[in-house]
Amino acid sequence: MQDHPALSDVTLPDPKPPAAPTPLAERIVASLTYRVGKDVRAARPHDWLAATILTVRDQIIDRWMASTRSAHGAGAKRVYYLSLEFLIGRLLRDALTNLGMNEEVREALASLGVDLAAIEEIEPDAALGNGGLGRLAACFMESLASLDLPAYGYGIRYVNGMFRQRIDDGWQVELPETWLAHGDPWEFERRESSYHIGFGGEVVSTDTGGAKWRPAERVIATAVDTPVVGWRGVRVNTLRLWTAQAVDPLKLEAFNAGDYAAALADSNRAEQLTRVLYPADAHPAGQELRLRQEYFFSSASLQDVVRRHMQYFGDIRTLADKAAIQLNDTHPAVSVAELMRLLVDVHDLEFDEAWRITQATFGYTNHTLLPEALETWPLPMFERLLPRHMQLIYAINARLLREARSRPWADDRAISAISLIDESGERRVRMANLAFAGAHSVNGVAALHTRLMKQTVFADLHRLYPERINNKTNGITPRRWLQQCNPALTGLLRETIGDAFLDRTEATSALEAHADEGDFQARFAAVKRANKAALSDHIRRHIAVRLDPDAMFDVQIKRIHEYKRQLLNIVETVALYDDIRSHPERDWAPRVKIFAGKAASSYHNAKLIIKLANDVARRVNADTSTQDLLKLVFVPNYNVSLAERIVPAADLSEQISTAGMEASGTGNMKLALNGALTIGTLDGANIEIRDRVGPDNIFIFGLTADEVAGRRQAGYHPADCIAQSRELSQALTAIASGVFSPDDPARYSGLVAELYNDDRFMLCADFDAYTRAQREVDALWRTPAAWWSKAIRNTAGVGWFSSDRTISEYARDIWEVM
Ligand SMILES: *Cc1c(COP(=O)(O)O)cnc(C)c1O
Repeated sequence: MQDHPALSDVTLPDPKPPAAPTPLAERIVASLTYRVGKDVRAARPHDWLAATILTVRDQIIDRWMASTRSAHGAGAKRVYYLSLEFLIGRLLRDALTNLGMNEEVREALASLGVDLAAIEEIEPDAALGNGGLGRLAACFMESLASLDLPAYGYGIRYVNGMFRQRIDDGWQVELPETWLAHGDPWEFERRESSYHIGFGGEVVSTDTGGAKWRPAERVIATAVDTPVVGWRGVRVNTLRLWTAQAVDPLKLEAFNAGDYAAALADSNRAEQLTRVLYPADAHPAGQELRLRQEYFFSSASLQDVVRRHMQYFGDIRTLADKAAIQLNDTHPAVSVAELMRLLVDVHDLEFDEAWRITQATFGYTNHTLLPEALETWPLPMFERLLPRHMQLIYAINARLLREARSRPWADDRAISAISLIDESGERRVRMANLAFAGAHSVNGVAALHTRLMKQTVFADLHRLYPERINNKTNGITPRRWLQQCNPALTGLLRETIGDAFLDRTEATSALEAHADEGDFQARFAAVKRANKAALSDHIRRHIAVRLDPDAMFDVQIKRIHEYKRQLLNIVETVALYDDIRSHPERDWAPRVKIFAGKAASSYHNAKLIIKLANDVARRVNADTSTQDLLKLVFVPNYNVSLAERIVPAADLSEQISTAGMEASGTGNMKLALNGALTIGTLDGANIEIRDRVGPDNIFIFGLTADEVAGRRQAGYHPADCIAQSRELSQALTAIASGVFSPDDPARYSGLVAELYNDDRFMLCADFDAYTRAQREVDALWRTPAAWWSKAIRNTAGVGWFSSDRTISEYARDIWEVM
């Protein structure tokens, strides 16, 4: 499937001169003529897109300036959200919805012979993130503006961002994403907001006994701003992304001497910083470039925050009263040391006062407990790249450990767990501990995750600072994930329960009263059917597989990772396929299994799981004996835009991670809000979804987090589980022996052997429970009145998972701006 169709794929009717051009149509034509520089008769779809965006952007700018002025006038405290990822997706439909301009723009374009939906489709999807963490940052930006809170998002303007995924012969192929190929009409480059960012060099003492960093290398960070419009246009905030340039972009002397590579070497080196996002959530990236990226954007953002504070308030000591900085995971954790450097070395504060301000300013959000995903950096590399920061980290650590040692319970084990330096092998800097120490608030992203944070990775730091850890269960913006992606359901809800839910998503609870009305169920089901037909159409056009929109659409869409257990789903599909073929006479519920997701490029098993899904699909989809009962598709290039198509068309939402491993999940919330039933483990926010929709309206199976830990402690033997389950052992034998890979029968023998020997993610322990839950799903599907009653109760129950609610909690408890 192509994400950005070639221009020739999009045919728009010839523009006709408007009969009676609306004022808006005239403005769009003016943008096309004078800003894009195209004649109406020669304009291509991308020209119309640019002209439309520029015209809409004009509407935004007045509000943007008013928002900045009002925050300034009120001397308001600002929120700064630092994130290495912002998975923002397309922006046009978002802006039009939030400004209430959808109809007006559609009509204006129609009068020019241009179809709004067609140009919305060719807007590039800004994939500046891997998955949930980056999408959370994007939902948060939208909710901050919707709640009228003055806020900036800070990140990196990756030229290529997350890779584009193509599937060749079932294998993932990674291609650079060229989202900037046509430029980005949303953005404003701010040449005046530029900062020097240093690397390497040495630390020298000053006359006054202080220290000063003399970097060996510098690059320039320049701000590029994108406006973020809140719901009903109440406020427009700024997403500020940094680009890198060399201080000396062209060494003319070298150039004139004919050494072109040397002449451009600095430029190339600087531009590497903002080239791609490492899809490295599966393994520590380990690359120096990643640390350079983290410091680059942290330093630029901190310098910008401090510069703005001094300009408005003139006194660095009031920073924490006027700025709340949230660290989205540890990627920006070096900010703690960078702010200390700015306060101590540049603004001449005493260390203790600087530390007090730093802690009061920062909050830190943890997103994972997986040990291999907790960032640490080899100390020699850190010290070479950031020598002054290393000194400051030692000083912070000395203070931290002094405090820890004063506690009677702090034995050597506790002290070494609290330390900012991991001394267990090659010495490494622990970014999570640095973020914890440097923040006044440390939050988890779902209730279970927060409890496990206290018990596992941060047990000792939590004992030292028992007030610091708090929970903020994730949320999603209902504008993108209900109104924009599912206009038909939104229309039905408005007719049925009124408009209150548009401003307060919790008001979807009024639907519960209609859950058992046959008439309403029929309309709810008809909306789902139409969304499924639209998705089927899309899939037929892009991967040439025909799906029956009357079958159950069973969806697992998320990054491919062993802990998320796509493999459990595939193995169960193989068992089901076998069962259907053995018992064709049974009353099977027709199913379509839909998978989508990217695997980190260095993650071998995740890529093999994609290949397996495609191998199973090839075999199953070609089998005429199961034709109408089972289909499997892997839809390439999962991103926000694809999620917006699949989410409204899902009947069943697969949230089947090994309990204790998914911090929260947000895909689970999107799907439930759009009326999918969840089949899931008691993991992450699934637990809170169950609490909200009621245990009768969700399929929960498998080990709990505590049981997973218990089994592991007691010695887990997956081979025993396999021996006890005929279905599991048959399915695994089929996969391992090459039934689905006759061209390479041993392709999956290693993958299956890992399940027998180790099964780190306890697929085998949960398999039978999962299968039983799936058969309950089948039974429910065969009684439509009961199915739709539960589906409606999901939409009714999950309004609480709006990111407006989440952001209100951050604003009240962490940032103190509400
Ligand atoms: C919501 C979303 C995610 C997160 O999905 P999970 O199921 O919570 O892992 C990842 N990628 C995209 C594009 C999303 O929209």
